[in-house]
Amino acid sequence: MLNNKYEVICKDVNQKIIINIIVTFIIVLFISFILSIVIYNKFWALDKELVHMTLELLSVFMGVSTFLIIWNRHSSEESINFILGFGYLIVSVMDVVHTYFYKYIILHDVANSDASLKYWLLARIIEVLTLLMFSYLPYKKNGNKYIAMFKTLVLISFLFYILQINKRFTPSFYTVNGITLLKIILEYFIIILAALTLYKLKNNLVTKQLINFKFLYISILLIIPSEVCFTLFKSPDSIWVVFGHVLKICSYYYLYKAVFQSLINYPYDQLNENNQRLSDILNAIPIPIHTYNLNNKVDFVNNKFEELFKYSKKSIIGLNDYEISKVLRKVGNNYENSLPYRVNNNEEETQNIIRTYLDSHNKEIKVLINAHKIKGGVLILTNDIKQEQQIENLNLQAQTILNSISVPTMIIDYNGEIIACNSYFADLVEVDYKDIIKMNTYELNNLLKLNNNEVHQIFTPINFRDGRIDCVIETPSGNKKNIQISTSVIKNIYNERIGLMIVVQDVSKVKENQIKLINQEKLALLGQMGATIVHETRNFLTTIKGNSQLIQLYTDNDRIKGFANKINSDTDEVNRIISDFLNLSKPRETELEEVAFNDLISSMKSTIKTSSLMSKVQVSLELDYDERYILCDETQIKQVILNICKNAVESMENVSNPKLLISTGLNEQSKEVYIKIEDNGKGMSEAIIKKIGTPFFTTKKTGTGLGLNACYQIIKEHKGRIEIDSKVGIGTTFTIIIPYLDED
Ligand code: ADP
Ligand code: MG
Repeated sequence: MLNNKYEVICKDVNQKIIINIIVTFIIVLFISFILSIVIYNKFWALDKELVHMTLELLSVFMGVSTFLIIWNRHSSEESINFILGFGYLIVSVMDVVHTYFYKYIILHDVANSDASLKYWLLARIIEVLTLLMFSYLPYKKNGNKYIAMFKTLVLISFLFYILQINKRFTPSFYTVNGITLLKIILEYFIIILAALTLYKLKNNLVTKQLINFKFLYISILLIIPSEVCFTLFKSPDSIWVVFGHVLKICSYYYLYKAVFQSLINYPYDQLNENNQRLSDILNAIPIPIHTYNLNNKVDFVNNKFEELFKYSKKSIIGLNDYEISKVLRKVGNNYENSLPYRVNNNEEETQNIIRTYLDSHNKEIKVLINAHKIKGGVLILTNDIKQEQQIENLNLQAQTILNSISVPTMIIDYNGEIIACNSYFADLVEVDYKDIIKMNTYELNNLLKLNNNEVHQIFTPINFRDGRIDCVIETPSGNKKNIQISTSVIKNIYNERIGLMIVVQDVSKVKENQIKLINQEKLALLGQMGATIVHETRNFLTTIKGNSQLIQLYTDNDRIKGFANKINSDTDEVNRIISDFLNLSKPRETELEEVAFNDLISSMKSTIKTSSLMSKVQVSLELDYDERYILCDETQIKQVILNICKNAVESMENVSNPKLLISTGLNEQSKEVYIKIEDNGKGMSEAIIKKIGTPFFTTKKTGTGLGLNACYQIIKEHKGRIEIDSKVGIGTTFTIIIPYLDED
């Protein structure tokens, strides 16, 4: 497709050139003919020799000029194959000799006339052979020009030897009867060679490289009518002689022009083209550029420069460094040497200079300047740093947004480096914010002892993907946390992955609550089962009680009566304890009632004292009889007191004289009543005191760690509090404080 198009264009161009060549050819023919008539009529009769010499020397002059151009341009990179140059040098020499002998034709000196024509024909044959050879190898690289010159001189000498000294081998072209048929035949042969050359060159017409083929073509084309002229006359007096010579001059002229065009004009064209190309490139570059020449004047300004400073190229080009500072005004620091000056004098600091200029609208533009020495001047690159600042602003904004999100978040870039994170993230991992930024994910993994392989994988840039992973981290201070990581891939406008956004959720609490819930459910189940069992037991107790009463009734034995009585009263006690238990274990809503505080405690007296737990413990009760009413759920308060008493008794397991002191009192100022439960048990360390009350914290083999937690919750619901005073090895005092009701 493309090829076809190219061929069409070529054909088009070819046709144009062919028409151009034909027109030029006809015009040249016509003008030459007119000129020839004039020369023939005005000068030929006067001095044939002079006219002929003039015409010949004119073509010789151009032949030699052609040779000289090729000779002198030989060393340049793009040079014409010098067959053309040396060929025309030989031709010119032969022409000169032909001219020298020409006078004998006028004098009818047969031998010398023959010589003249021999040189003439030799020149013509060499000419067409040169052109034919050249048409085969126009671009062939040249060798050493001096060797070529030597070979040429040897060839010329040889030709002279053949034609001048050793005439035996040369046929004669001029006899007493004038020009011989052989000469005419040879001229036709030359025409054929010229036509062959034209045919060979027809494909090169479009090429403009090296040699201008169009002019070369015209030159060769003109050889044909010129040669035809030389076949048309018998006597050398004919007008065809003049016309042929004039056409020959024209042919040489076009050859000269072809070589001149290519060797002299072509480089300039090329240079212009290259310059244009260079400035096109510089104009397309998105960096403002201007250059100074050796006279310190601006000689180039690119489009981006125009765009940035809003000054037209025209208003800047041609200004020197001083003048430009008047146009492109600088903000601050006016007394420094200009940049081209500094570069030319090899002063330091010509790179990365930050300056502020005023553009044509007096708007400040902050730029980063780099000046470079280049051949024949100075190049100055100006970078608009506003864009860079904008990017920085964007980063700051992103950081602000991150910080305002109350979820731990961080961003890693495609190198696996953490480029942003918010303070919540820093808090979660308990690492300083500044230390996290610039860390890579590998270091973070190590720091947090993140051993989850999947996390390692997802943090590796090639594996970036959207997803969610649960894992455990350990902060540098040793806190273990259950976290859930959600990842989202960040993409650029080309849909390429450039980073990963990571949002973290601390699920430790959720996990904890889950475990607690499971335990609580277990307990509730146990409670329910316990309640059922106790209920069943009570049925049997009723039977036992009934039977013991029956025994009392039917026996006369006092001892048996006494035993039965004991069974009866103990059964009552068991029944009461069971009732209490049932009351406690029944899950129920808090029902607040007005209750006399001391009454409540005294009613518990027997429960506490008779509790099987208390077997060895000496229990004393000191109640304050200044009664106060509290708003409470009696059962729940009882549960709290029993729980604390139970703990106290348990703490005195290994004590020889366990003592439990329960006392009540009130604080009128704060309107609170309190109950103190004091033991002389093993006591608690500070660390344990801190932890008690958290669910499942226990130091006992069979403990649940739920007792105190329940107590705290209940007292909290009563708007009260629990205070603890404990010393290891001495004992513990729990004080339950509850606000009482104002009498009013
Ligand atoms: P549990 O009794 O099942 O262990 P608690 O919540 O009732 O659970 O008690 C929690 C922990 O508090 C106990 O394991 C014990 O170490 C400590 N504790 C509570 N009361 C006392 C006390 N009077 N003396 C010493 N330690 C106590
Ligand atoms: Mg307990």
